[in-house]
Amino acid sequence: MTRSISILGATGSVGASTLDLIRRERGKWRVAALTANSSADELAKLAIEFGAEIAVVGDESCLNDLRAALSSTGVEAAGGAQALREAAARPVDITVGAIVGCAGLAPVMAAIEQGGTIALANKEALVSAGDVMTAAVAKHGATLLPVDSEHNAIFQCLQGNDMGEVNWITLTASGGPFREWSQAQLDAATPKQAVAHPNWDMGAKISVDSATMMNKGLEFIEAHHLFPVGLERLRIIVHPQSVIHSMVEYRDGSTLAQLGPSDMKVPIASCLAWPKRMETGCQPLDLAAIGELSFFAPDEDRFPATRLAREAVHEGGSAPATLNAANEVAVAAFLAGQIGFTRIAAIVAEALNRDIDTAPATLDEVLAVDADARLRATEILEKA
Ligand code: NAD
Ligand code: MG
Repeated sequence: MTRSISILGATGSVGASTLDLIRRERGKWRVAALTANSSADELAKLAIEFGAEIAVVGDESCLNDLRAALSSTGVEAAGGAQALREAAARPVDITVGAIVGCAGLAPVMAAIEQGGTIALANKEALVSAGDVMTAAVAKHGATLLPVDSEHNAIFQCLQGNDMGEVNWITLTASGGPFREWSQAQLDAATPKQAVAHPNWDMGAKISVDSATMMNKGLEFIEAHHLFPVGLERLRIIVHPQSVIHSMVEYRDGSTLAQLGPSDMKVPIASCLAWPKRMETGCQPLDLAAIGELSFFAPDEDRFPATRLAREAVHEGGSAPATLNAANEVAVAAFLAGQIGFTRIAAIVAEALNRDIDTAPATLDEVLAVDADARLRATEILEKA
């Protein structure tokens, strides 16, 4: 039996890993929508290779290029934010949410409203929308499967167990490329150094988030929404080898962990095949070669981002969406060479340093908080 799939953010790192897995099982899948932001030619190539029904660029100014690349191929072409949402709203068995940033929120919500299965990589969407997204999942009978490797690990460790019997959910963090750097070195860190992650090959934004540890902060909030065991049962541990992807400790003292190679194809495959398994072609773990696993408490003096995220989710209201939006603006400014590395967390802290509004209750309200926080973060970074 064939299954239908749409991939939002098909040209990115998670999108490419997903399409690699689909290539292994070509006969089993029908590809509905593939989307990208502006890489029209790359998207067109993928759409033709996979016989997609429709290809969509988020940036409407790239639609002409996409149309030209797809002319007389039978693949529909569309562009713009509304077209992204419409493509995501086409009913399919599984949608992979792999757009980076809050830009992926509206398309993911459109997919959720179809009541299908959403394999979510796009953590910023869940951090910003929080309860708005989980309520929509419940209302429309959708299934949310976590692609993020830590959350996928936790999801696997929870199977067959009772969330009421969980003592701790422990998110592992590699610590990023700057784990052992001094404060002075961090102040001088460049974008090139920040995107060179020791264990994972990822898009630029999440690579910078890993370097600041904001990635783990966002994941802390993501875990809170996916696995509602209470914030007091969530914790972070630094584990530089990225072999254990996360763990769940139960009240009898048993800890279940998921281990695997540092390759996103493993958690993506777990979502695509769930509740079954599929081949990934990934190199299996060689524990004897790895030799030792080590663990450290996070250092929140050098890496304040996890503390900011924890405080934001404890505060609730508009704070998590504000944290995410300010971080997106600050990371983009860092990648563009406008600000130094340690200014990223400082800008996020300053954007959060205001009265917190009540929690957004609709998608439009989340997007309004996001837009407002972007303006504020831009003002903060321009005045410095
Ligand atoms: P990436 O930058 O490699 O790809 C992002 C994709 O989103 C591209 O297809 C791009 O065209 C599209 N996109 C970007 N901006 C857009 C916009 N404004 N409108 C529409 N589309 C847009 O990013 P990635 O590393 O693949 O990460 C994607 C998401 O998955 C992120 O939320 C990230 O945090 C999460 N994630 C990634 C990894 C990883 O290993 N790369 C691991 C876990 C979670
Ligand atoms: Mg992760």
